[in-house]
Amino acid sequence: MVLEFLGAAHEVTGSCHYLSFGDKHILVDCGMEQGPDLYTNQEIPVNAAMIDYVFVTHAHIDHSGLLPLLYNHGFRGKIYCTLATNELCNIMLKDSAHIQMFEAEWRNRKAKRAGKPEVVPLYDMNDAMSVLSHFVPCDYQKKIKVCDGLEIRFVDAGHLLGSSSIEMWVRDDDGTEVKLAFSGDIGPGNRPLIKDPEYIKDADYVIMESTYGDRKHNTPPDFAIALAKVIKETLYERGGNLVVPAFSVGRTQEMLYFIRRIKSEHLLPEFENFEVYIDSPLAVEATSIFNKSVEECFDEDARALVQQGINPIGFPGLKMAITSDESKMINFNDNPKVIISASGMCEAGRIRHHLKHNLWRKDSTILFVGYQVPGTLGFSLLNGAKEVRLFGETIEVAARIENLPGISGHADVEQLTKWAAAFENKPKKVFVVHGEDKVTEQFADHLKDTLGYEAYAPFPGDAFDLATGEQVREGSRERAEKKITEKSRASSNVFARLLAAGQRLLTVINKCEGMPNKELGKFADQINALCNKWDR
Ligand SMILES: [Zn+2]
Repeated sequence: MVLEFLGAAHEVTGSCHYLSFGDKHILVDCGMEQGPDLYTNQEIPVNAAMIDYVFVTHAHIDHSGLLPLLYNHGFRGKIYCTLATNELCNIMLKDSAHIQMFEAEWRNRKAKRAGKPEVVPLYDMNDAMSVLSHFVPCDYQKKIKVCDGLEIRFVDAGHLLGSSSIEMWVRDDDGTEVKLAFSGDIGPGNRPLIKDPEYIKDADYVIMESTYGDRKHNTPPDFAIALAKVIKETLYERGGNLVVPAFSVGRTQEMLYFIRRIKSEHLLPEFENFEVYIDSPLAVEATSIFNKSVEECFDEDARALVQQGINPIGFPGLKMAITSDESKMINFNDNPKVIISASGMCEAGRIRHHLKHNLWRKDSTILFVGYQVPGTLGFSLLNGAKEVRLFGETIEVAARIENLPGISGHADVEQLTKWAAAFENKPKKVFVVHGEDKVTEQFADHLKDTLGYEAYAPFPGDAFDLATGEQVREGSRERAEKKITEKSRASSNVFARLLAAGQRLLTVINKCEGMPNKELGKFADQINALCNKWDR
């Protein structure tokens, strides 16, 4: 029984772990790397067609975003996750495919003019739609038998609607039994709408995140009161718009929760009827999924509101823009308003139009409510840029730029330690993943010092035999020096797809052993005909 770390090892994104036992091959998460790449993710050690099951902790793209590529490379197994994760993946993977195709199309228009070769999207809508039919939605808390020798249970991780930690009971062919606990991303507790993370009591091996393993969150001020102040100053004292760049899934719904509180708790009694626009089709869809997931995902406070007939993320004056005409209309109407739009770091999406219409206005405010990665437009605005380029135009920054952090999606070092301390017996080993390079090691040391755990921060490609606990393979420690260029990614992408198809063919051939000779002969003739065609 071998566990290998493929991604989000010594870095934060691209979560992917591979486990093999008996004749089974499984993945936990299949995420896309985002932002700067520190260590290159390892390839899955077997071809995609041999993966039997994928277990997905939550819908964020850095945990689920490569599932359509896995399908494209021949995966036809089953994907287990919670009901809400399934619903969110349904919109997020399609959105991701749309982005991939849109980007490839845009690059191809440029490439054509420059006489450069065609770029191929990483995956397309067909891959996303097809992989979605392989999902198996599961309830929280229920122990589920996946196959002989493998049972799983999802427990709430309090990080995003539907987010989970996964408990896994594995029995190898030789009778070795091992209990694993994958933390997924752990929430800080006390977040609006969703439940607090649940603790797991026992495990032989723990695979846990460490995003904020070196930080302590300050006690956040009451977000609704702070937000009410910005709304009052912008909409009513200056008559401008308040533009909030926010991620469509999670952060947007939290903003709605706080705005509902502002209205229902009469925090702005003089002007309670201000207009709020959600301008992102994805956010509108995600909001309806939140509204459907009350029973399984909402915390007690939010459920109590629903029982009184109150929608925790709905209020009078809330308007949703789905079509691009509806989006354009927002800027034709002169009423001061709140506009919530994506993307959260202003790199793409409709938010850029609202920035174009509001950045130059002295009376408007741009309010950041989430972390801004260096290098993004959001980061430069937050750091005092005087002018920015949008749609080929230079726009002066005259609007107020404000920052209201405070709702973090991740547990801090104290909350992570509490999660790790909940195991009643010391695990044999804790693998610390999903943190920045040095933070993973720092948090592993912290677990050794404070809880006496044997903790280790694996690199991509490190593999462990779980029967003995011994390391059986050492991955690469080399940092990803070169940034992968679009061109090399596009050409390697297509060749990788062909290679995966070839490997899949071999898997299918092996499965055919024992078929009638007539069938086997026909199959062999077809393969040879194909080879004759291409062997040139
Ligand atoms: Zn996440």
